[in-house]
Amino acid sequence: MKLCRFNDQRFGLVIDNSVRDVTHVLERLPAYRYPLPTHDPLIAHLSELRPILLAEAHKAEALAISDVAFLSPIANAGKVVAAPVNYKAHLDEAREDAAIHFHNKVVEIQTIGLFLKATSSIVGPSEGVHIRFADRRNDHEIELAVIIGAKADRVSPQNAMNYVAGYCIGLDMTVRGPQERSLRKSLDHFTVLGPWMVSADEMVHADAADMELCVNGAQRQKANTRDLLIGIPELIAWASSYYTLHPGDVLMTGTPEGVGPVVAGDVITATIAGIGEMKVEVTSLRDETKL
Ligand code: MN
Repeated sequence: MKLCRFNDQRFGLVIDNSVRDVTHVLERLPAYRYPLPTHDPLIAHLSELRPILLAEAHKAEALAISDVAFLSPIANAGKVVAAPVNYKAHLDEAREDAAIHFHNKVVEIQTIGLFLKATSSIVGPSEGVHIRFADRRNDHEIELAVIIGAKADRVSPQNAMNYVAGYCIGLDMTVRGPQERSLRKSLDHFTVLGPWMVSADEMVHADAADMELCVNGAQRQKANTRDLLIGIPELIAWASSYYTLHPGDVLMTGTPEGVGPVVAGDVITATIAGIGEMKVEVTSLRDETKL
């Protein structure tokens, strides 16, 4: 099952290269009142909604994928957990290039651990990346994003995959500089998720998925998730040893080698086998700000 959010807060399934609008099924979700839950209600109730979503989707009109504007497939992520330098070749390039490490010591993931990105940085591919600091280097990082499907507290690597709802493509956008990662990677529009979430049962080779990122058609990053230093089950187990993971939490698994700068006007194309492709435009925030 491929779940998407699109246009003006519509919700749908992607079937046979088309989008089927099943927004009305969301009326079955609990009607929450303040205080709101710290998880994503749709992801939390996905398994019970699955049969009705599929039945309704097959009755719905087919919209062409090219005619819809995709939003983040996750509407209410509680947190975005991210893995720094989780590919050996990216560790090497980060250590060699001062424009990437910015004179910070690049420490191995096993030592430095995970970090968090602000959930307010999440957008979908149709919303684009906004450059706030055009005088600094802004880099693309393609990553396999894992969506947590059930409450996970101190789970073992052996059981960790039972807590995965699905996967999507993630861009962990980064402004280079001396500050902490969580600041430099939490700008608005700096976590792009999309174009849809593929449920875990359909993504059988998440641990061996080819990925590629191009800027204006030129290849920048090409890798396979089998080269992750710390694999998906170990990342989930490690994260959940520090904090409980909730349905809809997002785990960015780390970027491979080939990170590089983008500027306003660029178009990023990110592809992960088993998920699909998303195009993301880079624009200058200044162009859109009326002072
Ligand atoms: Mn990253």
